[in-house]
Amino acid sequence: MSLFDNFKDPELCKALLDRIHKELDGELRFMEVCGTHTVSIFRSGVRSLLSDKVVHLSGPGCPVCVTHDSEVAAFLELAGRNAIIATFGDLMRVPGPDKKSLKSAQAEGARVKVVYSPFDALKLAQDNPGDKVVFLGVGFETTAPAIAATVKVAREQGITNFSVLCFHKLVPPALDALVGDPELKVQAFLLPGHVSAIIGVEPYRFLAEKHSLPAVVAGFEPVDILQALHLFVTMRNERRAEVVNAYTRVVSDAGNPKAVSVMHEVFEPADALWRGIGLIPGSGLTVREEYAAFDAMRVFGMALKEVPAIKGCRCGDVLKGKLSPDGCPLFGKACTPAAPVGPCMVSTEGSCAAYYKYKV
Ligand code: SF4
Repeated sequence: MSLFDNFKDPELCKALLDRIHKELDGELRFMEVCGTHTVSIFRSGVRSLLSDKVVHLSGPGCPVCVTHDSEVAAFLELAGRNAIIATFGDLMRVPGPDKKSLKSAQAEGARVKVVYSPFDALKLAQDNPGDKVVFLGVGFETTAPAIAATVKVAREQGITNFSVLCFHKLVPPALDALVGDPELKVQAFLLPGHVSAIIGVEPYRFLAEKHSLPAVVAGFEPVDILQALHLFVTMRNERRAEVVNAYTRVVSDAGNPKAVSVMHEVFEPADALWRGIGLIPGSGLTVREEYAAFDAMRVFGMALKEVPAIKGCRCGDVLKGKLSPDGCPLFGKACTPAAPVGPCMVSTEGSCAAYYKYKV
């Protein structure tokens, strides 16, 4: 049985792959910036079908992975302040300073609850009126609107013991920062389907207009990814660079204006720290002054602190596409999904975990 037999449209996939390799002149270095693409490329085996001329760079597409050490330290600080921490489960094992995590803090008595939506966290606040409940707001444009909507509901209902630790990140400013890195030499971007469903296509136009780079919004099936790669090759051969929406069954060019509107009503852009990249101007979200009562940083009088990076972990280089996961000396030895050293091995969307699991 061939790998193609697992694909939805094996004949089209074969034809696209054939054309990519036949029509490509020179090397194509493309970067994906979405954890779901990372996993799809590794799990489907698409990566193993590509010739050496097609270089896959796995970028900062996993929100848990890009959460900075200083931000993880802030979670842990809050867990020690007798607040009830409500979080999505994928943050539980992310290591912070001294190898502590929310899971280890929970084992030591901190009140950390895994929730499945920010509204579950709000319910937790309603059920525990004598406690302060903090929801950990980590994610890209995909998750920020639902959290903003929850904050609005909290204000409308007069719930005063609920707040959000807002460490959301925005994808387009990170892409701009990565393009400017001369070591990476990214030649094309595979743009994230989920984020694009919210923000649409317009925020990426600068890639083509300012940097002359082609970029394609793509779905997650192998055929979607191969179609995007073929579009990169075609655009290069035709000496044009455009931002193309090839995922129209889900993403409209305008995105979801209602979601964007609620996100901007509650949050505003701010500089943000990214693991491995550092401070990127305007690449994060912070709670607007009007909603300050729901900003955990203000409620608890906190500020981000500098903390030492995780010893030996090369997640920063992996997230920038500078290092393949197996290039990290700890990969598969001291660091495995069962005993992860860094967040890229903790998260199911992390490059190290995907690389390990699907043994590329
Ligand atoms: Fe970090 Fe582990 Fe990945 Fe190495 S293999 S970069 S230690 S997560």
